[in-house]
Amino acid sequence: MDEAIYQPYRIKVVEPITLLSPREREARLVEAGYNVFNLRADDVYVDLLTDSGTGALSQDQWAAMMRGDESYAGSRSYDRFRAAVDDIFGFRYVLPTHQGRAAENVLFSAVVRPGHVVPNNMHFDTTRANLLANGGDPVDLPIDVAYEPRTLHPFKGNLDPAKLEKLIAEVGTERIPFVMMTITNNSAGGQPVSLENLREVSQIAHRHGLLLFIDACRFAENIFFIREREPGYADKTPLEIAREIFSLADGMTMSAKKDGLANIGGILAMNDRDLFEAARERLILMEGFPTYGGLAGRDLESIAVGLREALDPAYLADRVGQARYLGEGLKDRGVPIIEPIGGHAVYIDALGLLPGFPQAAFPALAVTNAFYLEAGVRGVEIGSVMFAHPDAEGRTVYPRLEMVRLAIPRRMYTRTHFDAVIRGGEAVARKAKSLPGYKIVEGEGPLRHFVARFEIVPRK
Ligand SMILES: *Cc1c(COP(=O)(O)O)cnc(C)c1O
Repeated sequence: MDEAIYQPYRIKVVEPITLLSPREREARLVEAGYNVFNLRADDVYVDLLTDSGTGALSQDQWAAMMRGDESYAGSRSYDRFRAAVDDIFGFRYVLPTHQGRAAENVLFSAVVRPGHVVPNNMHFDTTRANLLANGGDPVDLPIDVAYEPRTLHPFKGNLDPAKLEKLIAEVGTERIPFVMMTITNNSAGGQPVSLENLREVSQIAHRHGLLLFIDACRFAENIFFIREREPGYADKTPLEIAREIFSLADGMTMSAKKDGLANIGGILAMNDRDLFEAARERLILMEGFPTYGGLAGRDLESIAVGLREALDPAYLADRVGQARYLGEGLKDRGVPIIEPIGGHAVYIDALGLLPGFPQAAFPALAVTNAFYLEAGVRGVEIGSVMFAHPDAEGRTVYPRLEMVRLAIPRRMYTRTHFDAVIRGGEAVARKAKSLPGYKIVEGEGPLRHFVARFEIVPRK
């Protein structure tokens, strides 16, 4: 990156944060059972646990929220939400939901039946869980390089069209309720999908009479990468590119806590009338009346403004620029990261930092905890704590990658905060050889990472 990117906003409201002393941080981590999910947020200096709903709202969002109309049915706030969604995405039918996972469950419970198979470039964990809960079988079809941490590819989030053709031939179209595409590909590190790939997937799906749904959580970040990397798109506006993307699809699910720049909310939209009527019935049962869908009127206002702000090129350059600033800074100080750097987070390659560290002793947890101890930074372990599981013979299957994700809340932190994280990373790298391992003393099952407690196991 040769050109400096300056923050296109300044600070009007201040939220105090404190950096506890090293001894206090150690005491808090011990109390938390060495699991940063158990820390109080006030004990964290830079909180990079997630970028979901954690960002700062703009003055226009706060102003719009004061105009929130809390009427049960037909509120003005719904009209404004609807106008923004129509303008950007262009689907015939739109339903608000309280989060992205609610949009998923409303859609899936309306159409997914036991025996159904849903292809996706890569399912996000709530999408996968909601499909499974409705009897479906989520199948990931990414291009092969998605699994190679240091292979550079401009659109590492793409779906492999040959794999899609093969799957359709194998299972038959009757068992596929729809095809999905997740932009950006969160589970592959926030990697973008190209318009060329979206077009090809749309053509394949439609040639077989299948619907295409887009998981649009980070659509604006994906558009940043299309403008940057895809021939012919540099001079198009983000809004023009958004309309082109969504014209290829038959519907979408979205968490407004991501590129809706809101603290809460979700969107379900589609063109098919029968599907809409089935989904609307589910929505009333699970979320609320179709003009509020589990949200307050003021939340709808916040989303209406946020969706448009997310498409501002200056906002997007700052957003992706922050991830790059943090990622490059860590790399320069000897912390290996997954490349290329995606849109919303930096992923640290824990085994690259701790070669030979046994996976049974949780290397990514060791790095996550070291970041808190060194700098008061909270990231999230994406490794064996989250994914290791027993096979049929009871032997532990370990994931291929041990990662620590540092997710960046929108419009919240400045370069001084990122400098503190980078300096913390430098200290973690310096102490890499002496970081302890861990063992689980409490918590089991696929969601144990949220609640587990650990004890230190000294390294020999
Ligand atoms: C966050 C996210 C979801 C789920 O949204 P929630 O608002 O957290 O329920 C679904 N898909 C992707 C890609 C996401 O990033």
